[in-house]
Amino acid sequence: MQELPTWVEIDLDALIENVELVRREVTSDVQIMMTVKADAYGHGAVQVARAVEDRVDRFGVATIDEAIELSTAGIEKKILILSPILAKEIPMAVAGRFITTVSSYAFAREVSACAVAKSTEAEVHIEVDTGMGRTGVMPSDVDDLLGRVTKLAGIRCGGLFTHFPVSESDPGFTRKQVREFRKIVERIESTGMSIPVLHSANSAAIPSVPESHMTMVRPGLSIYGHYPTGASRRLPVRPVMSWKCRIVQIRHVPAGTPISYGKSFVTKRTTKVAVIPVGYGHGYPFRLSNRGAVIVEGHKVPIIGRVTMDMTMVDLTDVAGEPRPGDEVVLVGSHGPCEITVDQIADWAGTISYEILTGISKRVPRKYLRDGEVQVLKSLLGVTAKKGSS
Ligand SMILES: *Cc1c(COP(=O)(O)O)cnc(C)c1O
Repeated sequence: MQELPTWVEIDLDALIENVELVRREVTSDVQIMMTVKADAYGHGAVQVARAVEDRVDRFGVATIDEAIELSTAGIEKKILILSPILAKEIPMAVAGRFITTVSSYAFAREVSACAVAKSTEAEVHIEVDTGMGRTGVMPSDVDDLLGRVTKLAGIRCGGLFTHFPVSESDPGFTRKQVREFRKIVERIESTGMSIPVLHSANSAAIPSVPESHMTMVRPGLSIYGHYPTGASRRLPVRPVMSWKCRIVQIRHVPAGTPISYGKSFVTKRTTKVAVIPVGYGHGYPFRLSNRGAVIVEGHKVPIIGRVTMDMTMVDLTDVAGEPRPGDEVVLVGSHGPCEITVDQIADWAGTISYEILTGISKRVPRKYLRDGEVQVLKSLLGVTAKKGSS
């Protein structure tokens, strides 16, 4: 296998274990729709979906492109596009048999017209806004919308859902949303109608608000092995991704040497500086300048000076061994007793783990491991090298 300057390792065994942990957390009649939007939170949507397709029931994406990417790769489980799409995109959604999210009658009418024109039936889910304040129809308008959508030709309402803004920090508010949602469902059912799939739970709600499971859950972050900030850590998921690179240069500089753009760090002693080939152009946050750390030979060493687009400097002076160019550096993950989590990076950068994961750029090839062995290497160019080739 080719030696790379930087790469991400995706542990498919951990991914599968995490799916199973979520599976055991819900009753056996509850479906799992795994959220694989934003390239499976930076893990690679196609590889992730292939690895778990026989263990989950559906996939959730945000855009039509993401849905097409999965179906083109041969994924057969149903795909729900969670975000609103443009009217112009509806024909592609209908042709692809993707489920779209309806928040308005005007959108539903477009879907209907398109399905009728193609002599098919399109499935939609209606989103109700019980407190997220983003998309969806207001609770007071759901019954009317559903009534009118049901009368449209070529369209079938297969689901109703809502979303939680504070499930990691306020289970009380989340429970209130669930009660509101249930009231809506009871109202609908009292008219003799029934909606097959009801869903609301994201990662944080799954362990903390069991009544949110309904007929389907929509985990994302927890399956990648992380907890939303403040969320219950009861499910022992483990991180799927680690991020590594190799030292590309080592320099010994005297005291008083400014390091990197802005000269924001000046050495106070003779310093052994390692240059690592990762910068904000790879999605390694600029905010880690003079703040973050990496792991070299089991030691945490500090980033000195600004993170640049392509390179970052770290201080190796206190590392006992003799690190050399080509040696491995852990940016995210663990080595010996040392660990740097995505949460730690997010904290240093003043953001959330979701942003770090989804920000790792196409510059960084993904290595997929199964039983500790590299199964597939997917480069930034989308070229897939099989095991054993370089
Ligand atoms: C992204 C998303 C999810 C998954 O959220 P996690 O916090 O990653 O579990 C679920 N539902 C909707 C509507 C989403 O947009």
